[in-house]
Formats: sequence, C-alpha cells, structure tokens
Amino acid sequence: MAVREFNYWLTTVQMPQPPAQPLPETADVAVIGAGFTGLSAALALAKRGAKVVVLEAETIGWGASSRNGGMVLTGLKLGVNKLIAMYGRELTRRMYAASLATIAAVERIVTEENIACDFARTGHLEVACKQAHFADYARQVEVIAREFNHQLRVVPRAELSGEIGSDIYYGGMVDEISAGVNPARYVAGLGGAALRAGAQIAERTKLEDVRREARNGAPGFRLRTSRDIFWARNVLVGTSGYTGGATPALQKKIIPIGSFIITTEVLPEALARELSPRNRQIYDSKNYLYYYRLTPDHRMLFGGRAAFFPETDRTIRKSAEILRRGMIEVYPQLRDTKVEYVWGGTLDFCFDIMPHSGRIDGVYFAVGYAGHGVAMATWQGQKMAEWIADGKTDNPFSEIKFPGAPLGLYNGNPWFLPFAGAYYKVLDWIS
Ligand SMILES: Cc1cc2nc3c(=O)[nH]c(=O)nc-3n(C[C@H](O)[C@H](O)[C@H](O)COP(=O)(O)OP(=O)(O)OC[C@H]3O[C@@H](n4cnc5c(N)ncnc54)[C@H](O)[C@@H]3O)c2cc1C
Repeated sequence: MAVREFNYWLTTVQMPQPPAQPLPETADVAVIGAGFTGLSAALALAKRGAKVVVLEAETIGWGASSRNGGMVLTGLKLGVNKLIAMYGRELTRRMYAASLATIAAVERIVTEENIACDFARTGHLEVACKQAHFADYARQVEVIAREFNHQLRVVPRAELSGEIGSDIYYGGMVDEISAGVNPARYVAGLGGAALRAGAQIAERTKLEDVRREARNGAPGFRLRTSRDIFWARNVLVGTSGYTGGATPALQKKIIPIGSFIITTEVLPEALARELSPRNRQIYDSKNYLYYYRLTPDHRMLFGGRAAFFPETDRTIRKSAEILRRGMIEVYPQLRDTKVEYVWGGTLDFCFDIMPHSGRIDGVYFAVGYAGHGVAMATWQGQKMAEWIADGKTDNPFSEIKFPGAPLGLYNGNPWFLPFAGAYYKVLDWIS
C-alpha cells in the first residue's frame, strides 16, 4: 500500500457535529479555536453557567489537537536547570508542580466525561543520543527529586533493553507519571462534553477582527467573523500555531513550526513488544528530536520536526522519507515494515520556548506549548476559565514576561526558520 497522506488518528474517530445555528447577538465569552485550549476552557466555563461561543475556522480538533503524538507529558520543554536559572527556585517549583497537575487535569476530564480515548499512564522515556546527555540525566533526576519532590529514574545503557528495543542510545530517563492518549478521540470527547455542557461551537467560522466596544455601559468586544458580527464580554484566544492576523499582537510573539508523523502498518504482537516493552512515550535528547510510541492498535508512530516550515503537500511528502530513514536508524527491525500514513501539523513556539497566558489589549490568551500541549493546553484552558469566571487564578505562566522577537524583527512571517533549522542541526552535532 502506498503511503497515505492522511492523519491516522482520524481513521479512529467520529468528530461531533455541532448543530448549525446562527451566532447569538451577545455572549459572556467568545473562545477562538476548538482545540484542547479552547474546548477545555469552553467546557469549564459552560459548566459554571457562562454563555460560551467557540469560533473555529475549520472543524472541531482540526488544528494540532487531533494531529499530535498523543504524549501526555510531565515537565516543560526547557530543562529544570535552565528554568531555575531563568526564573529562580520558587517560580520554577510552581511551574513544575503545574506540569504534574496537567496530567491529572487530562485524566480527570477523561474520567468525568467518560471519553473513550485510550488514556493510559504508560510513562515516558527520554533517551540520550550522547554520553554527555546521559550524564546530565543524573543531575536532572537529583534536582527534580530535591526541588520538586518528584522521582524520575535513570536507566543505564546496560538496562535499556528493558525499555526500548534499540541499541543506539547511551541510556534513558523515565517518568512513570506521563501518559499516552489517542488525541483525536480526546479532542472529539472534549468537544462533545463542551456541547453537552451548553457551549455553542460554531465551525467554519473564522474570527477576522476583534476590538474593544462597550455595550449598554458594559466593557466588552466586538467580534467580526467570516459569518456575522457579535459581541462578547470576554474573549479567549487558543489558536496556538495557527494564530493569524485577527490577533496580530499575539501572532508576532509566536513562531509556527511544522512537525510531522508517520505510522506503520499494524505490527505483530511480539515485534511491538520488542520495540517498546513497556509501551512508553519515547523521545530523544536532540534539539531536532524524534518522538515515537506504539498506537493502541500497535502501529509504530514516529514523529519529528523533519522540516521546519508548516505543513504543505511538499513538506509532508519529504517528511515521510526523512522520518522513515530516522525510524530505521532507531529500529532496524522495521526495515521491511510498511509506512501507511504520513501527516503534519503546526506547533507554536514562543521566543523563550515557554508556555504563556495572560491578556493583550484586554483579550485573554494561552499559547506557546512547544510540543508539550496535550496536557498543558488542557490545563491552561481550565485556568483561563477560572480567571475569566472568578477574576483571579493562580498560574505561574501568566506571571512571567512574554518576550517578543529580538529587536522586534518579526511580523508573524517566519522568514528565519530555515536558518533556525540549520542552527539546531549544528547544535545537535556539537553539543
Ligand atoms: C505533529 C504534532 C505532534 C505533536 N505531538 C505532541 C505530543 O505528542 N504531546 C504534546 O503534548 N504535544 C504535542 N504536540 C503539540 C500539541 O498538539 C499542541 O500544543 C496542542 O494541540 C495545542 O492545542 P490548542 O488548542 O492550543 O491549538 P490547536 O489544536 O492547534 O487549535 C487551534 C485552532 O484554532 C483555529 N483557529 C486559528 N485561527 C482562527 C481564527 N481566526 N478564527 C477561528 N479559529 C481559528 C484553528 O483552525 C485550530 O483548529 C504536537 C503537535 C503537532 C503538530
């Protein structure tokens, strides 16, 4: 079978079909984007009795939320030592605690809303591509245990075969708290739950412009959409790597980066067990990293930032070849295995590689997940709902500075990405 340019996860799910209805004249909250951020916020707000309208330019889960690896990961993209150097011990402690809470947030929603999405606490495994990377694991484990009271485990090279059927790595580090999920089923379930709770989800309705406008003496926002104009007391933007010109101040702070995934045919049981004996969510220690796992039906899902530009037909095709070569380097056992699906999606990186939430010109936002968004976007959506409903929340990612591009040299068009790609490749080579 030829490789199909299609998101495998979408073959496993029926997305909810929200009823077609006109936009209301007014709402308490307009949420932009029907991914994990927007839908978890909409669910929490609707449960508190708010009148919520979610605007989605495409369909439920169309963005990164249905396209990702389904790794529900603890920790942040930046390592703990770097975080402590940037933010100090206290703030880093709160950030790390939040990163652990994100996993529980996903689990709670899955349980409460009865979402059949193969959520399982299989743990994650980071594997070291160099001896120096492995040496750093011991330091990280020690700092995380001491500062955050959370126990990770170092796996020396000699014991790595109990974790992964590959002998190219120098050792590993395991966190048992992380989980795996079928992301498309999870986002479909979130959408269904938000609808049941009373939120309106307006598909194929793109926000084009938002500006402050008071109504009957109440402050709020006028939203111009591809369908109608309406008014909302509050606006929350959760558009991640797909943030566009409707929110230009936010767009300038986000770098969209393409990430791509292949999945193989279904593997024989014994081979699947050999490749990943504990069914971990696995990623390597490079900047230009590979991430991989078994799907619930035992395909190998193998992803990476094969091309830096967002997905197009050309980058998707090119990525299939690059990723297949990468997969065989890791797992020569898959040399004769067919790759059945390839697809891509867009990640959102901020200039400091941190998640950020807050308000710009009165509009709430939560973005910057840098490939860690399954759990973090869910949690941020809940926190933003709390902030909007109660007027306050406790969220370290709303307290840190949100930097723009150095010298302000960026208008949302990522012209420097090929150079960034080359830079990270060099960094992987020398560090
Ligand atoms: C290939 C890939 C693999 C990944 N793997 C992992 C992983 O294994 N683990 C992990 O934790 N994270 C992973 N991520 C990241 C994770 O998927 C994202 O961080 C997360 O899904 C972001 O959710 P979101 O709701 O903020 O944004 P999205 O799910 O991207 O949703 C944004 C939505 O906003 C809509 N939108 C944009 N502009 C407008 C507008 N003007 N009006 C209306 N709607 C608009 C878009 O149509 C889109 O549907 C991966 C991402 C990709 C692309």
